[in-house]
Amino acid sequence: MLALRGHHLVCRLGFRGLGYSDAFVQQMTEIVHLLRTYPEMKLRVIAGPDVLCDACPHLVDGQCQTAGNSHSEIRIQAMDRAVIQILDLQVGHLYTVQMINERMKARFDKASFDLVCADCRWRALGFCEAGLEGL
Ligand code: SF4
Repeated sequence: MLALRGHHLVCRLGFRGLGYSDAFVQQMTEIVHLLRTYPEMKLRVIAGPDVLCDACPHLVDGQCQTAGNSHSEIRIQAMDRAVIQILDLQVGHLYTVQMINERMKARFDKASFDLVCADCRWRALGFCEAGLEGL
């Protein structure tokens, strides 16, 4: 069982070996492999730092600080909650990877990307939208 923050349910779709550091890329590679290999695995959906953040250089004092201050964590949590709401999930609840994938295919669309990922530096690459199409 893994815990993942809401917006990482989207990010993992577009992962192609890019990331914030070698340690982060290695962690992301391992987690994405698990998610793709074990669709029956259960995920706990959270709105705070997760197993991917643990390997990220932007996690400082237990908070995402991409902008160099703790306001980033507040902004990122809003992204998490937006994804969780779009997918009609509940914070802290368990879901299989397969169930989340089905919700993504049914409920997450271009407007969702526009809402959730507007400020994301990776969005322009188009990897996440291609990843959703490939689910
Ligand atoms: S700490 Fe911030 S930038 Fe790093 S993985 Fe977590 S949410 Fe993303």
